[in-house]
Amino acid sequence: MPPRFEPVTRSCAILALSLLLVAACRPSSPRLLSERMFAMATWVDLEIEPTGRAQGRALLTEIERLLNTAERDYYAWAPGGELAGLNAALAGGRPTTVSPALGDLLQRAQVLAATSHGHFDPGVGALVELWGFHVAPAPGWRPPPAQAIEGWRTRPASIRSLTLRDGQASSSDTRLRIDLGGIAKGYVLDRIVAVLREAGIANALVNAGGDLRVLGRRGDRPWHIGVRDPRGAGVLHTLTLQDGEAAFTSGDYERFVKQGSRRWHHILDPATGQPALHTAAVTVVAADGTTADAAATALLVAGPARWRALAKDLGIDFVLRVDIDGSTAMTAPMRARITAATPGSSAILVPAP
Ligand code: ADP
Ligand code: MG
Repeated sequence: MPPRFEPVTRSCAILALSLLLVAACRPSSPRLLSERMFAMATWVDLEIEPTGRAQGRALLTEIERLLNTAERDYYAWAPGGELAGLNAALAGGRPTTVSPALGDLLQRAQVLAATSHGHFDPGVGALVELWGFHVAPAPGWRPPPAQAIEGWRTRPASIRSLTLRDGQASSSDTRLRIDLGGIAKGYVLDRIVAVLREAGIANALVNAGGDLRVLGRRGDRPWHIGVRDPRGAGVLHTLTLQDGEAAFTSGDYERFVKQGSRRWHHILDPATGQPALHTAAVTVVAADGTTADAAATALLVAGPARWRALAKDLGIDFVLRVDIDGSTAMTAPMRARITAATPGSSAILVPAP
């Protein structure tokens, strides 16, 4: 199992919103099937407008199977999982067989690491462990010694050194540990959306704790989602999503330890070996979840001076960035997607702090 952080706060906030959503939308609501499953350390909420072709129960079983596989096999510290096995093999300098699904995810991750110029790099596994963010930070947590960070900075590991060939993975770098925590959720949401499309579902929402993908519309209007204020309980903006789009947020409030005014958090800059302390949150809208997830992580790491250029290089049009000083900046296409939050609108709150 991936580590579980602040599940109570998150689930309560999301539950509260789901209730609000139902209450606010009753008069014009379409007939939606709602289902909630706990996976990947968060609640996964499904809203599906069934069609004649769709067989609800079989669909849900298939989705549950995908989620169970993902949380075991794509999380580096899940005992007995496929990625944990790959990391053990890398440490021992042995090539190992990877399943077609994990191979595909690793390949996507490698491409996104390259196009993000290493701001997103799942080769940070050992660094995540050094900072202790692979588990829930315990009381008395401290940042690692400067010497250890310097050790990473002078010889960082990267997913670039992973070779994938004929279903086998290997690396010449025995220090390489892969952590897919910045992309796995996006990949799984894409797999779920593919299953829904295959079943002929035209309208749906798949929401994994605020990271989500939509299909079609919600009744007679597009899906609207609320982007949460990273430092408060309210909605910062409401944005409109089109058929198939994904909206993913990376934030410094998901997993962190606060010491004085400093918030040590779990998104690390591979170049410095330290958490990216300049950015509170980045929300990305993209055509698929895998890209949106990795891009949100990369753009959070990129920081105030580089995020716009990096968004261009990644081919991402829709970005909203919130600085730690509270100021927000966004791309012009994102501004065009923002709508005012209206009372009774079907806004869904994105990540709960
Ligand atoms: P969330 O926790 O909301 O899914 P992200 O998608 O940004 O947030 O993923 C953060 C996770 O990705 C971290 O917990 C860690 O496992 C991993 N990670 C941290 N820094 C990086 C990085 N620079 N590149 C790739 N993965 C990272
Ligand atoms: Mg991410």
